[in-house]
Amino acid sequence: MPEGDTVWRTARRLDEALAGQVLTCSDFRVPRFATTDLTGRAVTETVSRGKHLLTRVDGGLTVHTHLRMDGSWRIRPAGGYLPRDHRIRLVLGNESRQALGYQLGVVEVLPTRSEARAVGHLGPDLLGPDWDEAEAVRRLRADPDRPVGEALLDQRNLAGIGNLYKSEVLFLRGLDPWRTVGSIDDPEALVELARKLLDANKDRAGQITTGNPARGQETWVYGRPGRPCRRCGSAIRTARAYGGRADLEDRVTFWCPRCQL
Ligand SMILES: [Zn+2]
Repeated sequence: MPEGDTVWRTARRLDEALAGQVLTCSDFRVPRFATTDLTGRAVTETVSRGKHLLTRVDGGLTVHTHLRMDGSWRIRPAGGYLPRDHRIRLVLGNESRQALGYQLGVVEVLPTRSEARAVGHLGPDLLGPDWDEAEAVRRLRADPDRPVGEALLDQRNLAGIGNLYKSEVLFLRGLDPWRTVGSIDDPEALVELARKLLDANKDRAGQITTGNPARGQETWVYGRPGRPCRRCGSAIRTARAYGGRADLEDRVTFWCPRCQL
C-alpha cells in the first residue's frame, strides 16, 4: 500500500512531467467525470497532502487523486497510442509527457478553493512544509484510550502513515500496537521517528527502516510473520487489526511480542 513517502515522490514526478505546460490530453475514465475535458489548461503544480495528490490547473480547478491500495501513476513520453487498459482511470498529458493513472481509488475534479473538501480533515502532514509535531501529538492525545497502532493510521491525527511505518515505528520504540495512546510516555518521540523514516525514504523507491537495503532485510517486523525478530529471535506475530473500520484501511499489523510491551 502506498504510504506518505511514495505519494510524496509521485507528486514530484507528476509535477516534473506536467507543471508549467498546457494539457493536450485529458481522458477521465470514471463515470462521474467522463465528460470533463481539461485540454488547453496549463498545469500549475502537483502537491501531496498526506496520501492525497492535488494537481492544480489554470482556471481554479484541482484534480484530486488517491492511490488507495494498488494505485500508481506512470509517466511516459507523449505521442504513443493511449492504452485501452481497463485499470487506467485518468490520463493527463502535454506535448512531451503522458501521465497514466492506474487503479486510482479516487479521481475527482473540484474547485481549488474547495480543496479542503478533499483534504481538510487531515492532520499535520508528516512530509508537508507545514508539519506541526505538537498539533499531531495533541490530536493523538485527544483520544487517550485508543490503541496506538490504530491512532497512528488515522489520517485525521497525522497524515502519511500506513501499515508499514506504523508497524516499524512501534517496533523501534518498543511499543505494543494495542497499548493505549494515553499510556505512552513520549508520543513526541514516536511521531518524530515516523517523520524521520518517511523523510529518509521519500527520495528512493524502497522503504527501508533497518538501514539495510538488501532484499528481505529492509524492515524489522513488517511483512515478516513467523520469522525471527532481528533483535531477540522471537517469532514475529501478525494480526488483522481494528475491526473493519474502513476509514482506517483495515489491514494486518506485525509486532514482536518480546521487544514490544
Ligand atoms: Zn524481538
